[in-house]
Amino acid sequence: MARRKKKAFPHKAILGIEALSVDDVRYIIDTARNLRSVFKRRRIKKTPALQGRTVLNLFLEPSTRTRVSFELAEKRLSADIINIAAASSAIVKGESIFDTGRTLLAMSPDLIVIRHKMGGSPHFLHKHLEIPVINAGDGINQHPTQALLDLLSILDRIDTVEGKTITIVGDIKHSRVARSNVLLLKKMGAKVRLCGPPTLLQPEYATLGGEIFYDLKQAVEGAHVVMMLRVQLERMKMGYFPTTNEYRRLYCFTAKHLKLARKNALVMHPGPMNRWVEIEPEVADSENSLILDQVANGISIRMALLYLLLGEKG
Ligand code: ASP
Repeated sequence: MARRKKKAFPHKAILGIEALSVDDVRYIIDTARNLRSVFKRRRIKKTPALQGRTVLNLFLEPSTRTRVSFELAEKRLSADIINIAAASSAIVKGESIFDTGRTLLAMSPDLIVIRHKMGGSPHFLHKHLEIPVINAGDGINQHPTQALLDLLSILDRIDTVEGKTITIVGDIKHSRVARSNVLLLKKMGAKVRLCGPPTLLQPEYATLGGEIFYDLKQAVEGAHVVMMLRVQLERMKMGYFPTTNEYRRLYCFTAKHLKLARKNALVMHPGPMNRWVEIEPEVADSENSLILDQVANGISIRMALLYLLLGEKG
């Protein structure tokens, strides 16, 4: 039987969710699953797919999960890696992102992974340096690899998100995770509910495609998936709620709330998690929780994207 021709990935960068078609998303998820199953079988977790390719990890905002899983994904694909973190980069001496990028380009990387506090910085680098870029989180704008790994984690448990109710709760205003997830989940046919205090969830967020709720009980009632978000204190220049206790009283996801959702509802959190503020440990560590699956799937999704952007093109 003739071998099916490998489909080409039509993108040179992963900057946000909008540019991806439903087919692209399915292709990324399938590639991540294939890579995951190959590595599951292997004792030595390495393939030469990106041998001789150099990936530059430019993390100019704090990161644990995303940074480590990108690095592991790159190592598993045998890429050469350059890591630059905020504290050790010349950016702290006042160098602009453009000059940092241009300097680094002189080292001939094949791809840049960037996390930056300014929204749009991955787009800026991609446009001006003409090099493949993956957005690892740009300010409050987007975190596309997080949304893709979240989708993979959900699809490992339920076969489709189409028609399913997915509730995202917390600091929607400052959450790039929420923005990327709403765009992706809507694209894939889910019904998305957004819930949080009115100061962190203005009615205009409905334009993203979610239904707005201010009451947690109503928002989670009958939901198939509940995704909790961290309160992003580092992005707040003023108080958005009177006290942490008040926030917890109204928006902390507890075992009682879980009972209102569907039987076997899935619980998610992108991390880092503030136990007792946005989620009760009993729920975070329950059988319904996908939180550790999300971390593990981060490696598979990032391997898939690196491979699709670099490996396939030879
Ligand atoms: N780790 C996620 C992010 O980088 C979520 C968070 O920080 O709360 O956006």
